[in-house]
Amino acid sequence: MTLDDDKDKGIFQALSSLVFPKICIYCQNEFAALCSNCQQLWLAPVQRRYVRGLAVNSTLAYNAASSRVVIQAKENRNRIAQYWMASALSAALEKFESDNPALSISRSLLVPIPSSKSAIRRRGESFLHPILDKLVELQMNKNGVRWRWKELLIHHKMVRDQSELSYTARQSNMAGAFRLRSDDLVMERPILLIDDVLTTGATLYSAFWALRERNLTVLGAATVCASAHRLLIR
Ligand SMILES: [Zn+2]
Repeated sequence: MTLDDDKDKGIFQALSSLVFPKICIYCQNEFAALCSNCQQLWLAPVQRRYVRGLAVNSTLAYNAASSRVVIQAKENRNRIAQYWMASALSAALEKFESDNPALSISRSLLVPIPSSKSAIRRRGESFLHPILDKLVELQMNKNGVRWRWKELLIHHKMVRDQSELSYTARQSNMAGAFRLRSDDLVMERPILLIDDVLTTGATLYSAFWALRERNLTVLGAATVCASAHRLLIR
């Protein structure tokens, strides 16, 4: 490439950023959908936490920057945010396989935590659905394997804040927070739960509980981000 080409490219980029102004949705500094600094941060090493017996792999810390990306995916269905959340989930899930070669994601079923009924009324389908479709596409392109996901759970009753409840009260609080959508044949596949953010752990644990009650095997959970300080169930 000649100097002139470089210069032309620079001018073109400058012009196109005037026409289509873009800022990094993560740090909000660079002129890019997700700037190269943030792409590095986004692909951070996956962290594992335990919510009682449930292993949860999360790629990012939950902070102002990552919550912006989650909100972009949730409220605006921003495609770049969806892509980065899919890639973070992909890394979190792959870690299960690299830690345990006997575990196969392609022989498992990915089950999202459902959006609340009011959120579905407000936004249409769960905001996780396009992210899961993107995740399947990413894996197909990368490894030629097809991951499967299925909405199995439905919100049944509100889970109260766990922090002020006794152990027994927590048990009954969580029992019945979710139920299975229908009795339609759940394939004989072990399940990995999927959510955007791990905060207290109560939601994931309730889902784990509901599936276990129906004798389904739950191998673990993957989330895009995790807040390190608010995990109340250990
Ligand atoms: Zn950035």
